[in-house]
Amino acid sequence: MGKILDGKGLSDKILNKLADSILENNYSPTLAVILVGNNPASEVYVSVKEKACNKIGIKSVVYKFDENTEESVILNQIRELNENKDIDGILVQLPLPKHIDKFKVIETISPQKDVDGFTLYNFGRVALGLKPHCYPCTPKGILTLLDEYKIQIEGKNVVVVGRSDIVGKPLANIFLKRNATVTICHSKTKNLAEITNRADILVAAIGCPKFITAEMVKDGAILIDVGISRVDGKLSGDIDFDEVFDKVAYITPVPKGIGPMTIASLMENTLELYKSHNH
Ligand code: NAD
Repeated sequence: MGKILDGKGLSDKILNKLADSILENNYSPTLAVILVGNNPASEVYVSVKEKACNKIGIKSVVYKFDENTEESVILNQIRELNENKDIDGILVQLPLPKHIDKFKVIETISPQKDVDGFTLYNFGRVALGLKPHCYPCTPKGILTLLDEYKIQIEGKNVVVVGRSDIVGKPLANIFLKRNATVTICHSKTKNLAEITNRADILVAAIGCPKFITAEMVKDGAILIDVGISRVDGKLSGDIDFDEVFDKVAYITPVPKGIGPMTIASLMENTLELYKSHNH
């Protein structure tokens, strides 16, 4: 299976390295996670993040709030965590209930503790091609995986399908900084297949299972599947893996592709923030 970009394998390698470094240096990083409401997918993601923390020696503290919690309560909790010297990273699990202003919540996180890289400060630095306190975890995981396989990025036609603030937009900026020629597509893009067919590296971050089919993909392309959907109880990506497999040079599977890389990046970010704080 030489075509598979093994996100799970690389993630395990990174987590083991981080665990060794935490143990050897007697580090004590702490990640605070805020979870509002009981969205089942969010609960799963938070538990996956907690497990990764436990595995490598990062302390995780989850602050759970009822669905109807007032926005001001969440903002006050974040302010308290900003001040708390024992806390290195703060993560607010998205989505938030409708009555809470997501942007206000994210902006309340101190950029120095913004482990997801979602604040204006960190997002803006990535947009300017400057180093943020933290890169957003999914884009960072994608680049780490491509670099591990020594896939050249400079000069490549990169097409990112999906323009979310957490994946598509920062990822496009990072590729641009790495001298790729970048196209961002979205739900209103015309002639999508024509554009995706020009991609040397094609990233799907849409949330529609098996949306990218063989006729949308150039021979020898490198495919990155960010999508995670549940279909008949099974996880499915945005790319029709079986259909495109013979055409591509490399592809990430779902599961065991970008999901684990995102977790590895979150752990790396937490440790980096810990080291940047005066303990
Ligand atoms: P989102 O859900 O906020 O937005 C979806 C994007 O897809 C939008 O920009 C939209 O314009 C685009 N889109 C929708 N329909 C389209 C169409 N028909 N043609 C072209 N573009 C279309 O995006 P998100 O938060 O980045 O999430 C995307 C997917 O990635 C979801 O399945 C999510 O669960 C998954 N995700 C996975 C990870 C991971 O760690 N693997 C991390 C974040 C998100």
